[in-house]
Amino acid sequence: MSQKVRVTHVKVKGGQPYLGQHDCTPQYSDDPDTVMRWLCDGWRSRFNQCRSTRHKYGPDHELIPIGDTVTDLTDTQARRACPWLAALPTLILQSPSKLEAVEWYSNVKRRKTARKQHRNPGRMPRFKSRHHDPLTFVCWYNGGRNAVFRQVNKTHGIVTITGQNPVGFRAHGARWRVEIHVKTSQPVHAYTNVRVNWTDRTLVFTNPPQPLDAALTGRAVGLDRGVAHQLATSDGGFIDLPQAKLKRISGEIARRQKVMARKSLLAGYRSQRDYRKHGTSKRYERERRQVARLYRKARNITMNWAQQVTTRLVRDYDFIVVENLNLQDMTRRCKPKPDPEHPGHWLHNGQTAKRGLNRELLRSNLGLLCSLLEYKTRLLPGKTLATVNPAYTSRTCIRCGYCAKENRESQAVFSCAKCGFTWNADLNAAVNILDMGVHAASAGELSEQGMDYALRAVNTARHGDATRGSRALFAREPQPSGTSPATGIPRL
Ligand SMILES: [Zn+2]
Repeated sequence: MSQKVRVTHVKVKGGQPYLGQHDCTPQYSDDPDTVMRWLCDGWRSRFNQCRSTRHKYGPDHELIPIGDTVTDLTDTQARRACPWLAALPTLILQSPSKLEAVEWYSNVKRRKTARKQHRNPGRMPRFKSRHHDPLTFVCWYNGGRNAVFRQVNKTHGIVTITGQNPVGFRAHGARWRVEIHVKTSQPVHAYTNVRVNWTDRTLVFTNPPQPLDAALTGRAVGLDRGVAHQLATSDGGFIDLPQAKLKRISGEIARRQKVMARKSLLAGYRSQRDYRKHGTSKRYERERRQVARLYRKARNITMNWAQQVTTRLVRDYDFIVVENLNLQDMTRRCKPKPDPEHPGHWLHNGQTAKRGLNRELLRSNLGLLCSLLEYKTRLLPGKTLATVNPAYTSRTCIRCGYCAKENRESQAVFSCAKCGFTWNADLNAAVNILDMGVHAASAGELSEQGMDYALRAVNTARHGDATRGSRALFAREPQPSGTSPATGIPRL
C-alpha cells in the first residue's frame, strides 16, 4: 500500500550540502532544484553501480557483465570513491542496493512464469537512464531516523531529510536539511520509506501492509463462475463487477480505436503497426495515450474490486472452494467447423466473436481472484482454499444427484429432468463445487466445526427451501430468467 502526495515546494536549511567536485573545486548549493537533482542523480548513480555487478549470457552461453564497466563497491567505498556521493544521507545511499535486487529478482521470477505460460518473457531491466527514467530517489524512514513527516496544518505537511557534509567539506555548515513541503488530502499512515519523484513533483509514502483481522468463523463456501454475474456463491449470493463503469470505458475505447484506425487508413497504411513505424499524427498519438489510460483505469477498477471481494471472502469464510482453473483451457478458441454450404471452407465462429474489454476482463478476473484468495488464505492460519475439478458441476442436480446434459434448460436456468428441481444454474454449480470440496478435504484442512457447517450448508441447499431463504453474502436476488443476454461460460 502507498500514499501519493503532491510536492508544493522545497527548502534547503541549516547549511549547504557538498555536491561533489567540479574542476577540482568543491561545489555547495542551497538552491532547492539543484539539491533535489543532486539527490536523484546520486541515488541513480548508486543504483547503476549495483546494477553493473549483474551478469547475462554472452554469445557462447558464458556469463558476462551486463554493462561495459563493473563498479563493485560497498556503500562506504562508494562514498569515498565518488565525491558526488560523499554527503548523500546514509538512508538514501543504502536503498538502491536493496531495491535493485528486488527489481532484478522479481523480473527473473516474472520471466520464468511467462515462459512457463508460453508468453513473451520480455527483457531484464537495464540501467536507469538520466534521460528516459524520471528523476527519483528513495529514503528509508527506519523508525524515524530520516525522512520524518510532520503535519503542519489540515492540508499540508513537511517531510524533512537531514544529512551532513564529510569532514573537510564543511565550509558552508556541517549539517543541512531539505524540507519537502507536501499537500496531503488524507492523514498520512505509518510508512517505511518515501519515494520522491522530482520529475512529477510527487512523493509516495510506502505503507506496511495492514494486518487483516480475520477470526475463524467456521463457515465454508463454494464459488462458481457466473453468467450474468461474475461469481455465484453456494449460499445463494452473487458477486458482481462494476459492469456499468466498465461498459462505459470499453465503449470509449472502441470509439477512440475507430479514430485511430481511420487515421492510419487515411495515411495509406494497411496496418496501424506500419503506420506507427513511419511516424504518426498528433491526433493519433493523443488517442493512443487516451486508450492506454482507459485500459489502465479499467484494470484499476477490476483490481480494486478483486481486492475487496477476496478480503471479504477470506474474512467471512474459513474454507473456500473454487474450480480448478486450467488457463490453457480458458483461453482456448473455438475450433473451426466445416461449412456445410461450401465444402472445403471453414467457419471460424470463435474468431469472429466480438472481443470486447468486458470479455477480456471476465476471462481474467477469476484467475485474479484465485491468486488473491490463495495468498490471503496462506497468510492466515486456519483459512483454506481448495480447488476441485469442475466437470459435471453445472449439469448435476443438487437435490437428487441426477447428472445429464438436458438438466441445463438454458445457460442461466438449471432444471432437473428427473425431479423437476429448478434453480439458477450458477448457484446450483456453486453448491456442487462446495460439496465436492468438502468431500475431498483431508483431515486438518477443515475443522470439525467447519465440516459440520459445510455439510449443513450443502444439505440445506439440497433439501430445504434453500433456494429462497439461504443467507446471501452479497445480498442479490438470483435472476433465473432467460432474459439475461450473456450466455454460458464465456469462451473465445
Ligand atoms: Zn434432481
